[in-house]
Amino acid sequence: MQPETLALHAAELSVYGSVASPIVLSTTYERDADNQLVSEYFYSRTGHPNRQAFEQIVSALEGGTVAAAFASGNAATQAVMHALAPGDHVIAPVDIYFGTRAVIESLYTRWGLQVSFVDTTDLDAIKAAWQPTTKLVWIETPSNPRLRITDIAAAAELAHARGALLAADNTWATPICTRPFEHGADIVMHSTTKYFGGHSDTLSGLIVMRDSNEFFERIRTMQTIGGTGAAPFDCWLLQRSVATMAVRVERQSQSAAQLAEALSQHTRIANVNYPGLASHAGHAIAARQMRPFGGMLSIEVAGGAEEALRMIGKVQLFKRATSLGGVESLIEHRASVEGPQSKTPPNLLRVSVGLEHADDLLADLLQALD
Ligand SMILES: *Cc1c(COP(=O)(O)O)cnc(C)c1O
Repeated sequence: MQPETLALHAAELSVYGSVASPIVLSTTYERDADNQLVSEYFYSRTGHPNRQAFEQIVSALEGGTVAAAFASGNAATQAVMHALAPGDHVIAPVDIYFGTRAVIESLYTRWGLQVSFVDTTDLDAIKAAWQPTTKLVWIETPSNPRLRITDIAAAAELAHARGALLAADNTWATPICTRPFEHGADIVMHSTTKYFGGHSDTLSGLIVMRDSNEFFERIRTMQTIGGTGAAPFDCWLLQRSVATMAVRVERQSQSAAQLAEALSQHTRIANVNYPGLASHAGHAIAARQMRPFGGMLSIEVAGGAEEALRMIGKVQLFKRATSLGGVESLIEHRASVEGPQSKTPPNLLRVSVGLEHADDLLADLLQALD
């Protein structure tokens, strides 16, 4: 079945014949007179119907076998890092999402995890960082906020040849554009706060794995014993939103492509980062592993940080806010958000394209550039 259909029918929850899914808020589940549980559920930390339904849907969309939903994308990342052991070494992108870097550095470096941040678009850089203790290669494609493209198949082949796992943060691409398991990845991570939720109103994350194995059991343990799983209301919102995700992402990608094309011709724009542009350094690889090219782009404004901040101050339709993947278009000056450690060009604005008409969005950006 195709993603549009799976999103609606891979897991259906119904009570009283209801067509819309119910939310089951109960924390505890009853036993019968023989002391047997009435259903497969026991206590909501260990599992509840809304979480199980959402996990099944994402697993089906990614083509995985098992999934665990968490209270945030960072909680999902944390579960993967915690499934490693102190002393293990991880290779991750230099331009990794700064929240993922924070999970590794502020929680797991102290715990004994070793990490090297390298340019994962360059396979030789991954090889050069390799250590006997390397157990995991983490990639993000496209990367945040420069939309660099890592070759998933090549990274997976390299990791597997040396006995490590490949994890892909697929938040930006979503399974509508990229299904990393088809290219050899072992683990897919999502901040479902973004496109899955799609409406900027739920914080949540998820791990899907291609195989059900001991590594996944450790991830599951972080969810059920660590107690970091996603709550019923969030899973219910996610199940409701995933039904429209394919349609949203298709349209957002179309609009993003239109904006990228138009802005790349503009004299006040120094550079547009969008993998759908033929001029993008990762375009050929993206064309193999990503279709359509997604709803995210970033623009580098000619004239430096000052001009970028002037432009962002003049937008009318776009909201100046962090995050992405919602129905409303957002724009953000990343360097200010990331702070003094930021490696992002100071003239870069990150754009999350929403569902407003592309002509209106373009007109807004053009008037802000004038
Ligand atoms: C937002 C985001 C995360 C973190 O997810 P939260 O839900 O904010 O915890 C991880 N990776 C990427 C690429 C993101 O955009």
